Amino acid sequence: MVESTKTKSRGWQGAVLKLLGADDYELTVTSNEKVTDEYIRLGFTGGGLLTDRPVHPTMWVRIWFENKHGKLHQRAYTLVDPDPSDDSFYLEFAIHDGAATRWALSAEPGDTISSTFMGSKFAIPEPAPKGWLIAGDAAALPALNSLLDAISASTDPSVPATVWFEYAHESDKALPLRLRDQDTINWVKRDRDGDALIEAVQGAAFDATGHFGWVALDMKATRAVSGSFKNDYKLGKTGVKAQAYWRANAPES
Ligand SMILES: Cc1cc2nc3c(=O)[nH]c(=O)nc-3n(C[C@H](O)[C@H](O)[C@H](O)COP(=O)(O)OP(=O)(O)OC[C@H]3O[C@@H](n4cnc5c(N)ncnc54)[C@H](O)[C@@H]3O)c2cc1C
Repeated sequence: MVESTKTKSRGWQGAVLKLLGADDYELTVTSNEKVTDEYIRLGFTGGGLLTDRPVHPTMWVRIWFENKHGKLHQRAYTLVDPDPSDDSFYLEFAIHDGAATRWALSAEPGDTISSTFMGSKFAIPEPAPKGWLIAGDAAALPALNSLLDAISASTDPSVPATVWFEYAHESDKALPLRLRDQDTINWVKRDRDGDALIEAVQGAAFDATGHFGWVALDMKATRAVSGSFKNDYKLGKTGVKAQAYWRANAPES
């Protein structure tokens, strides 16, 4: 059983979120499951999160994990298959050496953890784009899947997506990607600093005017790929939604 983080201090980040009026929710673990050797899925109830907040694609929440120094730090995780009818959802964790992963690996049903909701916002553009250009990795898989589900439920579900998926482990290829028949996937093995994916995207550039780009990789690759979508693929500033999901070689805060 893992101790709840409810009573610990959240430092300046917590103070700022409180000032901004962010809402807190206590999440309770309901299930745990290994998807691959490098990826796990936990079930949760949201302590009111989904009764208060309308669901949107790629919706994420800030969770307060205790780091190696006993301090809380917030990390973002994406809701998988959120169900407002019973305030339940899953969170999926790409395993690496970090506080979030350590907590998730030992979490058991009944464990609780604190979360804050603020900053998550995304909607499928209208009118529907001609096609989607999507770049992500295992950390982005939950968001990427919710995006593909939302495209399927949109006004034009037949719009195709081209996906560049950066994988770090062979087992990542067994992850449950929700591709449809009309989608194309490019698997790119992560090299030392993520350059292979950047080169793969840049090397495939074409005039994709009218498409929409979505990018969630490490910080360096997110910047480079989103720049390539905007300029080489001619999507412009408003044709791309990009957010760095993690920072390579980051010291634990
Ligand atoms: C909006 C948003 C949604 C996200 N949703 C998810 C999600 O659903 N599932 C998910 O797994 N992640 C998700 N992430 C990424 C997750 O928040 C980060 O990976 C985070 O850094 C993990 O925190 P940590 O405490 O485990 O490690 P940290 O203390 O941040 O980092 C510890 C070490 O691990 C390395 N590291 C951190 N993340 C990764 C990674 N993904 N791969 C390889 N090495 C890494 C760092 O470089 C550092 O060396 C999301 C991020 C954002 C911004």
